[in-house]
Formats: sequence, C-alpha cells, structure tokens
Amino acid sequence: MMNGKEYKESLKKLKPIIYYDGEKIEDVVEHPMTKPHVNSAAMTYELAFDPLYENLMTATSHLTGKKVNRFTHIHQSKEDLVNKVKMMRMIAQKTGTCFQRCVGLDAIGATFITTYNMDKAKGTNYHQKFLKWLEYIQENDFMVAGAMTDVKGDRSLKPSKQADPDLFTHIVEKREDGIVIKGAKAHMTGMANSHEMLILPTTNLLPGDEDYAVACAIPIDAEGVFHVFGRQTNSDRRLHGDIDTGNAEYAIVGGETLTVLDNVFVPWDRVFMCGEVEFAQDYVTRFAAYHRQNYGGCKVGNADVLIGATSLIAKYNGTSKASHIKDKLIEMTHLAETMYACSLACSYEGVKMEAGSYYVNTLLANEVKLNCTRNMYEISRLAHEIAGGFIATLPHENDLKSEVTGPYIRKYFAGDAKYPTEDRIKIARLLENMSGGTALAESMHGAGSPQAMRIMIGRESNMEQKEKLAADLVNIDISKY
Ligand SMILES: Cc1cc2nc3c(=O)[nH]c(=O)nc-3n(C[C@H](O)[C@H](O)[C@H](O)COP(=O)(O)OP(=O)(O)OC[C@H]3O[C@@H](n4cnc5c(N)ncnc54)[C@H](O)[C@@H]3O)c2cc1C
Repeated sequence: MMNGKEYKESLKKLKPIIYYDGEKIEDVVEHPMTKPHVNSAAMTYELAFDPLYENLMTATSHLTGKKVNRFTHIHQSKEDLVNKVKMMRMIAQKTGTCFQRCVGLDAIGATFITTYNMDKAKGTNYHQKFLKWLEYIQENDFMVAGAMTDVKGDRSLKPSKQADPDLFTHIVEKREDGIVIKGAKAHMTGMANSHEMLILPTTNLLPGDEDYAVACAIPIDAEGVFHVFGRQTNSDRRLHGDIDTGNAEYAIVGGETLTVLDNVFVPWDRVFMCGEVEFAQDYVTRFAAYHRQNYGGCKVGNADVLIGATSLIAKYNGTSKASHIKDKLIEMTHLAETMYACSLACSYEGVKMEAGSYYVNTLLANEVKLNCTRNMYEISRLAHEIAGGFIATLPHENDLKSEVTGPYIRKYFAGDAKYPTEDRIKIARLLENMSGGTALAESMHGAGSPQAMRIMIGRESNMEQKEKLAADLVNIDISKY
C-alpha cells in the first residue's frame, strides 16, 4: 500500500494532458486548482496507515491474501459493505469534502459481478482478464476513476441515434491486438489525480448499440486521452488566499474533468465488455447501487462538519441558546442520520452474488441517494437560516488583512465578544462553501439524478405484493383479475 506522500510522488510520474483556463496543468500535486483535491484523495492513502482506522481502511484481498487499501477491495461480506460506509463517513469528517476514490471502487465492484455474469452466459473470458487487472491495481495501490457518465447529447435519443456518434463512448475499430474507442466522459471525479480509469456504459442499451457496449481500463495518460478540468463555485478564490475558499486544504467537492477519448487504443487484456448490449442495464444498476450506498457515508461526514460549523456560528452570533436554533440543529442532525441509517441498512441487507462478492440491497441504496438529493438541501437551508446574511456579504479576505479596513471588519463583523471575529469569518466561509453551488449540485446529480432513483424504486418496490397484502385483508382474490 502507498501512504499519502507516496501517492503524491506516484502522480508526479504520470504525464496526463490536463487543461485548465486555457493552459496545461503540468503538476497536479502543486497546481492551485488541483492541489487540494490531491490532498483530499491522499487521505485515503494516509489513513490506511493509522492503526486507529486499520479495520475500516484496509481489507484482505481475496485475490492475493495480502492486506490492501479498501478502495481496491472486492466486498467479501456484509461487514465489508458496512465498513465501506463507516470509512467514508470518517474520511469525510476529516476532509470536509469529496475524497474521490469511491467511484473507482464502485466501478470495480460492478465490473466484478457483470464480467462474471457475461462469461457464464456467453462463454467470454472477461472476468479473468478483469481479475488480472484488479490484482495489478491492488498490488500498486492505484487510484481508479470510475468513468460511467457519457456526455449524452440529446437525452431523448439512444446512443446510435445521436446526431454525433461520439456523444456516447463507442468502439470505432476492432483490431487483432485490441479495440480503439472514441467519445468523452463527463463529470469525472478525481480523474486528474487518478492512475487509471475504468470505463463502463452509461445507460441500458438495445440491439443496434453494440459499439456502445464497452467497458475497459485505461491509464489516465494513455495516448489520445486528454482532460479539461472543471471550474467550481469559488475555486478562483484559491488564487487570492485561504480563508475565502472555506476549506483551503481539501477544497469543496471532488475536482471533476471532461475526459476526451480521442481514438484511444485499448489492448484486449484490458477490455471487459465488447458488444454485449443485454448486460449494460444490469452493469449500470450494479454500479449505481454501490455508488448510491456511499452517499449516507460521505455526505453525512460532510454534514457532520456543516452542522458543527452551524452550531459554532450560532455561538459566535449569541443565538445558540434560543430554542428554535437548538431545534434546527436537531433537525439537521436528524436529516443526516436518516441518510446514514439508510446506508447502513442497504449494507446489512446486502447479499452474496454468484460471482462471490457482496452486493448492497438495490432498493435501499436508491433510498439513500434520493434522501440525499433532498436532505443535503434542507440541511444547507437550515445552515443558511441560522448563520445569517453575512455569509453572503462578507468582504474579501484581503480586506480583512488590510491595515486600513481590517480593524473595521474585525470591529463590525464581531458577534459575541468572547470569540475572535476572524474565527467567525473563517467558519462562515466554510459554511458558505459547503452549502451552496457545486457542493449542492453534487448531492443532487452525483450517482444519478433523482428520477433515476425513482425509476429504480419503482422497479424494486414489488407493488403486486403490496396489492396482495391489502386484498388479502379484505378477502379479495386479485389473482382473478
Ligand atoms: C459533482 C459530480 C461528480 C460526478 N462524478 C462522476 C464520476 O466520477 N463518474 C461518473 O461516471 N459520473 C459522475 N457524475 C455524473 C452523474 O452521474 C451525472 O451527473 C448524473 O447521472 C446525471 O447526468 P447529467 O449530469 O448528464 O444530467 P442529465 O442526464 O442531463 O439530467 C438532467 C435532468 O434531465 C432528466 N433527464 C435526463 N435524461 C432524460 C430523459 N431521457 N427523459 C427525461 N428526462 C431526462 C434527469 O432526470 C435530470 O433531471 C458526477 C456528477 C456530478 C455533478
């Protein structure tokens, strides 16, 4: 396993092409736009060496019997699923943001199951190839970006019906030694500071879309790959100091890229799906359920920080003893713990798959994420209400540091005299950044938009059984309908 420092050193050996603001990022570890995201991901490495968190952060590889970082592990029990959630809450409490490495973990978990199922049904050999690649990932403790989401163009059209065939990633050539793929993946969390990406289809596919049924692994600096790094709410504040960014060390959200795959060659031993349209839906469902499980871990860890910030602001403001403030903090805690409870539930209700790994309860995993799309907004709304308007009107941190205006800002932005004004401003900036813009959009759309969850809940809700329960109680035989 690598520690945080070794992880950062390993990134310096890669040569990805990453653009930001019209220029190339030469060093992701040091560039101001990527540095805090690297620091956050580095926590997934560093904490694996902390004896306090060994149980959460590491596991025993079922492939090699060696100790591996949990972010490269195939879940072998319900306890593994539960530990994943607890691990994510713990890291999120320490970083106050996304640490990015779960998307790859979930793509690995889904690929493990789907390659097994494809091989069983079709006599292909994807599973063994995937296991060989996974062993390489585990041995090197690499970070893998989970690359599912295509750019999708006209959302009402299937991939092969789009005006531009590249709006979904697809195979453009099959060669003796491998395939060539083209397209782009959007919103790629942690891609800029990963080692590899694991590509999988973004939607269910129908016959005629075979070229779009592709899963494969590619180094992030493979020939033909380039990335355009996203601009987040307030990210330019990093260029002017630390306080106004809210969380200078670890940033807000994950640091996403548009990743362009411009005729990228992938050797056959790294291809894990090639044309099997009938398995795309199951693949996407598995990935989505594993990924939706996480939101009651990481987002709750972030909510813990946000609730703490809100409680501190109430103290700074002199309102902490008011009953409506206390009640709103209780409500925020209730909303957060409800998400956590759902994540634990979908893990404890996990099942062993034929492939040998453990998989979460799909219905409950979708409940986690649907709750998150609402609860994080409500938690943020309450945080704003308690904090007051100054979170929207605070001056620039350079004005705080200025000899001319600084004393006035300290004087007139003071709250309860017990506390330094600068502490009040720092926490206000943390609260402001954690509760708006990019952070909220991630809670809404990360791991899928709410409607995607509602579709899954509809599919998994077993309405016939519910109808029968009602009918049985009043002696109606609905089997006759
Ligand atoms: C911060 C962040 C990080 C992310 N990280 C990753 C990552 O690491 N890896 C990854 O693979 N993905 C990632 N995602 C992508 C995420 O899964 C998608 O944002 C999500 O699936 C929604 O896709 P979209 O953003 O293209 O929105 P759209 O699909 O455009 O959806 C917008 C709205 O249109 C609706 N809609 C979409 N299609 C239809 C249709 N056919 N008919 C009717 N309504 C429709 C949706 O329900 C939604 O309400 C990330 C997203 C965010 C915001």
